[in-house]
Amino acid sequence: MPKLWFSGENGGYQLEADEKASATYSSIRTGILSLTPGDQKCRLYCSGPRCRFCVVTPGKSETQAIDGLYSTWITSDILAMARLQEEHFEKMEIVEQFKINKIQSVINLQESGEHSFCGSGNLASGFSYDPEILMKNGIYHYNFPLPDFQACTSNRLLDIVKVVDFALANGKIAVHCHAGHGRTGMVIAAWMMFALGMSPSQAVNTVRSRRAKAVQSKEQVETLHKFRLQIRNNGGMIIPKQKMTFISEYVSYNQKFISKPESRLYGKVPKIVYTAMRITLQKMYSSVDFEIEDNYRLKIVCGSPLPENKLFDEQLLDAQLNDEDHEKTHFWYLDQVKKGLSISTINRQLENEDFRDIIRLVDLFFHSTFHQLTHKEEIFAVLQNLDRDEKDWSPTFWFLLSCIRVMPLPLHHALSRLVAKWFFRSEMDLASRIRTVLGLPVESNE
Ligand SMILES: [Zn+2]
Repeated sequence: MPKLWFSGENGGYQLEADEKASATYSSIRTGILSLTPGDQKCRLYCSGPRCRFCVVTPGKSETQAIDGLYSTWITSDILAMARLQEEHFEKMEIVEQFKINKIQSVINLQESGEHSFCGSGNLASGFSYDPEILMKNGIYHYNFPLPDFQACTSNRLLDIVKVVDFALANGKIAVHCHAGHGRTGMVIAAWMMFALGMSPSQAVNTVRSRRAKAVQSKEQVETLHKFRLQIRNNGGMIIPKQKMTFISEYVSYNQKFISKPESRLYGKVPKIVYTAMRITLQKMYSSVDFEIEDNYRLKIVCGSPLPENKLFDEQLLDAQLNDEDHEKTHFWYLDQVKKGLSISTINRQLENEDFRDIIRLVDLFFHSTFHQLTHKEEIFAVLQNLDRDEKDWSPTFWFLLSCIRVMPLPLHHALSRLVAKWFFRSEMDLASRIRTVLGLPVESNE
């Protein structure tokens, strides 16, 4: 069995040299800038009222994705920009421009009152513009104050990135700090690490390929390095470093990498189990709808079976899915991790994989993460409805049974055997019992 490469004896994943990014500012420059008082900083380094990021000069399309605003599309959905000025609202119809470009949210990383001697200075809002105007026009405004050039904790960065990810689910976003280089670049790079599984160097290079001056100080780069370590060592991976006793322990292990609305969706079921089952069903049917009823009981409504999935061979599937060769699956998993697989990239990354590989990943997950989750008397009592109390493992168990029941019939045999092994370590008696339960009419056993 190969060791997981992030679970060495000496305690955790270390960054490889080629994953590290580099700063564009020297430490001395960052040090001087951090120590210079705000008013001096604006006068000395930003030229005060003539600050080239805070002046509105329309018509420079090579540096202005949005006319009049120093801005760049980093992805098709993420705009990096300098802070807005009142003049953008008064003369440049910035709200209209945002609407035309489908920008739905603005992420503001400035501290209230900073760069107050730049451009036309700041308003009562503490910023160079009034966020209320955006909000009145249906554009969300989120403010996460970060000090210029300095580091922030990786927990804070994670909180910001989760909001960025949430905002992106609603439409395009614009991110700004003062010029839209340092803090803006750092947050966009962190989102790419979180959502696309990039390394710090890949993320920073991607951002800089669009906006050359992005991510400036050593502190910002080191914050991204720490963020990578947090993903790898502290809850961002599908298979944790240490084995666990309870499913609830696992659910809280990766909780901080999952946004609140998403958590509510999964309830007491691990995200990997939920997502793997959902993607598998999506590969079987034209549509799949999960409706959560009370107490996390699930109603799954599937469309018509896809033609390629009508002719499964039961025995072949059983042999493929119940292959005891965890080592082979492990290598497959490690390869996926190298491509960026983590808790926050599951959907994007597994969507195009074969469902057999996805189910085998779940097999590896149960095998490597948990000890035996329940014992014979307990699971039989629950199955026979003699014990109606919820157990730590039972929501996940019932979730899996609900999913398997709507799977094409030739899959039932293989999956019953797997589920028996996942919860009970052995399929003795249990697999056939699960198949009986699966064969019952949908309403009768839960
Ligand atoms: Zn300025």
